[in-house]
Amino acid sequence: MQYCNAIGPYKGGLRFAPNVCEDEFLFLALEQCLKNALTGLPLGGGKGGARFRTSDHSRHEVLRFCQAFMDEYVRHGGADVDVPAGDIGVGSREIGWLYGRWAKLTGRHVGMLTGKPEELGGIPGRVEATGYGTVRFAMRMLERLDRQIDGLRVTVSGAGNVALYAAERAILEGARVLSLSNSKGTARFGDGGLTREQLDEIKEATAEGTRLEAFAQDRSWLEFAEGTTPWSIECDVALPCATQNELDEPDARLLAAGGTVVVAEGANMPSTAAAVAAMKESGVVLGPGKAANAGGVAVSGFEMIQNATRDPWTRKEVLERLDEVMDEIHERCVQHSGNGKRPDYVRGANVASFYRLGRAIVATGPN
Ligand code: NAP
Repeated sequence: MQYCNAIGPYKGGLRFAPNVCEDEFLFLALEQCLKNALTGLPLGGGKGGARFRTSDHSRHEVLRFCQAFMDEYVRHGGADVDVPAGDIGVGSREIGWLYGRWAKLTGRHVGMLTGKPEELGGIPGRVEATGYGTVRFAMRMLERLDRQIDGLRVTVSGAGNVALYAAERAILEGARVLSLSNSKGTARFGDGGLTREQLDEIKEATAEGTRLEAFAQDRSWLEFAEGTTPWSIECDVALPCATQNELDEPDARLLAAGGTVVVAEGANMPSTAAAVAAMKESGVVLGPGKAANAGGVAVSGFEMIQNATRDPWTRKEVLERLDEVMDEIHERCVQHSGNGKRPDYVRGANVASFYRLGRAIVATGPN
């Protein structure tokens, strides 16, 4: 779905999942377009993918599927045209295979696709970027409310890329991470929260394909509650980092009743419209995904710069610049939301991104 290239090449993730459809890509592409505009980088908006569950297939089948996908995509992509990245079901392994096919078909080594393995021109820090950026955004939201994340209770949903690195950054900032989850249920940790060592164990196990519920079976430090979500756990900060529509109105009410002050969306549109309204009504401050999870695409933008200049960035440079971009996004949202003590980040993010796109479209003149 190539949505808008007013400010740069189409840019968004490829999603391989069994039930994706055109409507889903349409809303994701619009969201991506607005999100990319918010970063301040020259990135247009797009999204795409296929009905394919990577985990149902052998390594060889996934490789062949990626190659077949690129055989078609090659006509639509290009470093200045359309630069996809990974998303659900598409990690750096798949991106490497897609890129390999692209390079073979075109005979070129350019910045087509981001989230590449570093050996192929990928940038250090991309894997952490979305989760780390989401927590940085939540920290700025908390500061606006005269709070610090250090010592606060944080619930995280999901156990994938965004969730694991949001949990990691939250721990690094001194927060207590009380949960992770997946489509089968929720892993709860004790009141002291998940430790860095325990998180590393989870990261290692899930990277090898072990599911959270199986991992929990022989560990006493976490309890896996099947069929539940993290939203009934009392927390100060909630980070929905799994998937769209995972947080509905009753969940939002539970969060408010439990004293949650800030929700920052690591996933794309995880809160339903009813949940967004309930949070607004009950005073829970919401950082929408298009702002809070923009760190991933921002670092993809850095990867495009790195590939175009052929001048490698260090992880330190990437993470420092990531925090600056997240702070700038936060500032843009505040400015466009009326600048109050409790900014309406949903409004601020929409207005700021529409404003940037609108100015670019007007500047090109009538066609
Ligand atoms: P991922 O690595 O594939 O992880 C997704 C996680 O969500 C898995 O743990 C999955 O559990 C869980 N999940 C899926 N459906 C669920 C449901 N109905 N209820 C509870 N958990 C569920 O994907 P990701 O890259 O972390 O992306 C997560 C979200 O962030 C998506 O909305 C994505 O569009 C968004 N996002 C990602 C990036 C990025 O850089 N990766 C950037 C911006 C936004 P199962 O294994 O049980 O399915």
